[in-house]
Amino acid sequence: MEFPADSPLQSDCLGSIVLLSESQPFLHIDKRDLDVLSCIYRINKEVRMEGGVRKTYDVVIVGGGPAGLTAGLYTSRSRLRSVLIENGLLGGQMTTTENVENYPGFPQGIAGDELSRLMEEQAKRFGLEVVSEYVVEVKLEGDKKVVTTAERSYPCDVLIICTGTEYRKLGVPGEKEFAGKGVSYCATCDGAFFQGNQIVVVGGGDSALTEALYLTKFVKEVTIIHRRDALRGTKIYQERVFANPKIKLLWNSAIQEIKGGQTVQSVRVRNLKTGEITEHGIQGVFLFVGLLPRTQFLKGLVEMDEEGYILTGENGETSVKGIFAAGDCRKKLVRQIATAVGDGATAACAAEKYLELKG
Ligand code: NAP
Repeated sequence: MEFPADSPLQSDCLGSIVLLSESQPFLHIDKRDLDVLSCIYRINKEVRMEGGVRKTYDVVIVGGGPAGLTAGLYTSRSRLRSVLIENGLLGGQMTTTENVENYPGFPQGIAGDELSRLMEEQAKRFGLEVVSEYVVEVKLEGDKKVVTTAERSYPCDVLIICTGTEYRKLGVPGEKEFAGKGVSYCATCDGAFFQGNQIVVVGGGDSALTEALYLTKFVKEVTIIHRRDALRGTKIYQERVFANPKIKLLWNSAIQEIKGGQTVQSVRVRNLKTGEITEHGIQGVFLFVGLLPRTQFLKGLVEMDEEGYILTGENGETSVKGIFAAGDCRKKLVRQIATAVGDGATAACAAEKYLELKG
């Protein structure tokens, strides 16, 4: 009898059927058990390759923020063999949000790290496997996708990309030199180091406004430096910013240089209307000038826009059959925890349909 080369069932030299398993390398099989074993093989999909056992998954999810954890919850509940690969903290950017007040179900808001913990617990309850590894590349092998991390490879039928975004750098002199010495991209991580200080926050979106508000707990004064004369962020955050006596706004302005000695001491700021340059003595610079997708490792594989956001259909399907994208890493209008969760659920259901049709 002929079996595919990667099947654990093979004929031995006498024509008997043997099961190649790690624990019992040459277990002889009665032909009557063959149907049962074929079924087990199909369910478990354990294949022997390159001298070691390589697990094949129905679904690999890359990224463990709200989109990835929701996708994992759904695929696990659909009894698809799923693994989620995340190299940082489960919950992603959600973990550094002090109080999430626009996620339904929590009328008083909920701490971002607590919401992350609850989503993780819920997904794992239904059997989602989670590994802490860094994905370096994704390749196609026929219909299969092979996700490679620094440690191993994960062949799968469906890949769901949920890698989210990271904060964009401003790109001014001093930014790199003073990173971690007064320049920060995370208020909840670093805010407490600036007790009683004067600081600036750059940007006019939701991140800049919410982080500036959070920072007023610690600092003496926050100046928001924004390049226009109107904020981009949600109205309720704007109202709170305008009402907060510790927050000042510097409109139509851009940082030219971050200066200091061992740590940050001042910023040079240019008024974009008048061209006037002023220097402001401060101890901290928090930068929130937008996001960049974490999709570098997929360049050339799936279609993206010029910034690297993945182009998808309405159910998260990318330009490659069997690869879906969900959450902030895909091109879309709104990037919130609520929309990431919706994306994750949609991509997981679309993935299940894809597997059903594929057979
Ligand atoms: P964003 O909405 O893209 O805002 C970036 C801000 O930085 C804009 O005000 C932009 O100015 C400014 N900017 C961009 N490049 C700049 C440069 N080179 N120099 C100076 N300023 C520059 O990014 P975000 O605030 O990080 O928010 C990203 C997404 O996450 C949004 O969808 C947001 O709603 C969401 N988010 C939601 C919450 C929440 O609901 N609690 C919290 C955080 C983030 P312009 O306005 O002139 O373009």
